[in-house]
Amino acid sequence: MVTSTPDPCPQGRRKLLVFVAVRDSQLRDACGRAAARDPGLRLLAVSKDVAEPRMRGECPDVIVVGAGERSAAGVTAVAMARQLYPEAVVLPVTRDDEPSRILGLAAATTVETSCSDQPRPSVIGVDVIRSAIAWGEPSVVFQPVVDLQDRRVAGVEALARFGVEPSHPPDVWFAAAHGVGLGIDLERAAIQAAIRAATTLAPDVYLAVNVSPAAVLMPDVRAALAEAPPNQLVLEITEHARVDDYDELQAALAPLRARGVRIAIDDVGAGFASLRHVLRLDPEIIKLDQEITRGVEHNAGRAKLVGGLIAGASAVSTLVIAEGIETGPQLRCLRELGVRGGQGYFIGRPSDLRSAVGGNHAVMAALEPGHPPTPSPSGPRQALSGARILVVDDSPAHRHLIRSIFELEGASVHDAATAAAAHLAFEDVEPDLVLLDVRLPDGTGFDVLERIRRTSDTPALFVTAATAVSDRVAGFDRGADDYLLKPFSPEELVARVDSALRRRLTRSTDPPGALRSAESSTC
Ligand code: C2E
Ligand code: MG
Ligand code: MG
Repeated sequence: MVTSTPDPCPQGRRKLLVFVAVRDSQLRDACGRAAARDPGLRLLAVSKDVAEPRMRGECPDVIVVGAGERSAAGVTAVAMARQLYPEAVVLPVTRDDEPSRILGLAAATTVETSCSDQPRPSVIGVDVIRSAIAWGEPSVVFQPVVDLQDRRVAGVEALARFGVEPSHPPDVWFAAAHGVGLGIDLERAAIQAAIRAATTLAPDVYLAVNVSPAAVLMPDVRAALAEAPPNQLVLEITEHARVDDYDELQAALAPLRARGVRIAIDDVGAGFASLRHVLRLDPEIIKLDQEITRGVEHNAGRAKLVGGLIAGASAVSTLVIAEGIETGPQLRCLRELGVRGGQGYFIGRPSDLRSAVGGNHAVMAALEPGHPPTPSPSGPRQALSGARILVVDDSPAHRHLIRSIFELEGASVHDAATAAAAHLAFEDVEPDLVLLDVRLPDGTGFDVLERIRRTSDTPALFVTAATAVSDRVAGFDRGADDYLLKPFSPEELVARVDSALRRRLTRSTDPPGALRSAESSTC
């Protein structure tokens, strides 16, 4: 790192203080050398970290940053530099730029003001962040994420809002906080606010919170996340934040995932990691960045990219959600391309929780369905009426939800919260069908099914948040009839259970197990 102090240039004008903050080491060195050679400039520092002079209380006149580079919280280096040094001229550079030309431009820039004598009302400094947290900031709004196939709200994304001065968007606040070492505290405060505000969320709607890779590594952030029902929680980890050690990140996520928490990679396509890197995390969900969504309906290249991403994602059973949907044609095009989830102003703007989940999504209803809707039965379904269903799930909320759904169809529902209770109930109830969660407090749904299959071919369906391909394979290997993911649509669950029961009714004429192997579906 090189540091220096201002001095007059040959023309008597003060030399401009230049700070080179570029992550690419070759580009950084080239820019540093060019700045040092320019008589109109004084090189203040060369660094990977855009916040470095700010931490020392120094104020450059010109900042050279890597175009497209992003901070740990996922904010562009350009936005962060503008935030940290509001008086400075920010010059983005790429590998294709000639550093001396860029710095010539900097030298030609007249900066009349010196940073020391200007008030900085718009800077989010340490004190501002500390007092914002102390005052209960941030607050949270929720934006609906809609299942584009069956047109229901599948989840809500919690988005932080800052009601205190200075007024900035949330990503700028988080970037500034990370820049001064308070990023983790602010992220934890946002997570706590989101979980507190979402306690009334229905169990079949998920809650997504944004979290940076750096924050996931912190035990106190994971403790805050543990306050939410794990089966309902989705962690949106931004794709454009730097991940230095995927193994470490995976290890930090493993205990959360074991409890049913799902992982979404946010802003895919926006730029930092390649999709190959993203998929190392084996996410349950990928969220396509607005940059990709924008113009998809009349940009063949973009549509092809979306199609390719969907093909790749469905090969590993990953759900694809498109962000930033602003128009009907965009929505229709994305749905035709196979995107399953949608989010954006056209569907619903960020708002309070009630409006987000129950808001008037008439706009969705007005759309032509992509597939014919599941016909809603006029009365109780034949096969379901009078059927005995055993639900094995450790979540009381899910047991309750499933009971309500099937009792309406005329079935009698019995439940068990553990593997041990499931075996007893199976003997006792002699159910016509079993619904199984994968993760149970004393074992797995796989073990339960394995034992059932020793004596019975009663239809069994997994209804679980465990989306990994290996889980599905394990389920079907044990003899599952079907595998459905949480959160599920009640209509789809009823249709699948009804069809499994009807298959069973006709099974007496078939060789044992024939239908099961012929009709297994991987959703
Ligand atoms: P994100 O997670 O990708 O969130 C989506 C952003 O797109 C949100 O901006 C949302 O308001 C905006 N958006 C939604 N639909 C549309 C649309 O149709 N058109 C356009 N142009 N924009 C749309 P917001 O709320 O300003 O948040 C910006 C970013 O700040 C978020 O991007 C996320 O990276 C970060 N952020 C927000 N809240 C939190 C938080 O609680 N924790 C953390 N760590 N980061 C957060
Ligand atoms: Mg997000
Ligand atoms: Mg996003």
